[in-house]
Amino acid sequence: MKIALIVPVYNEEEALPVFWQAVEPVLQKENGFRFEYIFVNDGSTDGTLPYLKDLSARNKYVKVISLSRNFGKEAALTAGLNEAVQADAAIVMDADLQDPPELIPAFLEKFKEGYDVVYGTRQNRQTDSGLKRISANAFYKFYNFISTRPMPENAGDCRLISQRVVQALLQLPERERFMKGLFNWVGFKSVSIPFVRQARQAGKTKWNYWRLWNFALEGITASTTIPLRLWTYFGFSVSLFAFLYALWVAAKKIIFGNPVSGYSSLMVAILFFSGVQLISLGVIGEYLGRTFMEVKQRPLYIIDEKINCQ
Ligand code: UDP
Ligand code: MG
Repeated sequence: MKIALIVPVYNEEEALPVFWQAVEPVLQKENGFRFEYIFVNDGSTDGTLPYLKDLSARNKYVKVISLSRNFGKEAALTAGLNEAVQADAAIVMDADLQDPPELIPAFLEKFKEGYDVVYGTRQNRQTDSGLKRISANAFYKFYNFISTRPMPENAGDCRLISQRVVQALLQLPERERFMKGLFNWVGFKSVSIPFVRQARQAGKTKWNYWRLWNFALEGITASTTIPLRLWTYFGFSVSLFAFLYALWVAAKKIIFGNPVSGYSSLMVAILFFSGVQLISLGVIGEYLGRTFMEVKQRPLYIIDEKINCQ
């Protein structure tokens, strides 16, 4: 059976040699499988590409897809999946060894048992900062609260997927690719393997909180329209309240006359509802912008160079 190991890399010149040294022996020990590596160079500006070229010149089973610029991990993963259509299964893994290579034999074991999706679930987030832990937790809770298809918490991108799942994923045409959500959406028989996520072995993380926030927004808008519909209900509630309040004000006027007051309540109401309207416009804008990006139908990524690929 043929297994493709897909690794998206962006400026990982420090991590890649460590990665290769750790993963290659693990794969060597696995009998009964033929492995190929698919490194997707996501527009690295350091020595990543030369390193990969060297590696692929020495090993024919190391494929390299080099993108024309940085398209983001999600696009890079898709490029890798596109190249994995001949494998029986694909394993997706980061280059920084945060997902331990020991997961691979465990994944393969479950694959042999007949599972289509085997994913690693983080047992704890000890290697994360406090804020990262809280925000990640809040994201999963919120996502699962509003999403029609809840997602397993703390499951990373690191997983094995069978060829059927690869095909299913490649059928999803969207440009904004929130892979976690897509993996989850396609379904199939899945099993999770708990693991402890290590600290990054070398190099630097590509994430900061602004990127994470946008990533979370993308995840939510990509999988549910509830934020859009919320405003309908909010609007109805406010209208009902306004109607009742109007009755009360009218009654007060008839009974007690009108002692012109209420400037502050008027001001508060105006400011509050202007704010609410702007927020709802913003939510519409988020979806409209994404719709715009989708209808343009641009390719997800542009390939600059392919090495050892068919
Ligand atoms: N990565 C990528 N393109 C990007 C950012 C990251 O291909 O624009 C790769 C990166 O090289 C690594 C993986 O995605 O192999 C995960 O990145 P990182 O370790 O920075 O994310 P974290 O583990 O902190 O979530
Ligand atoms: Mg990492």
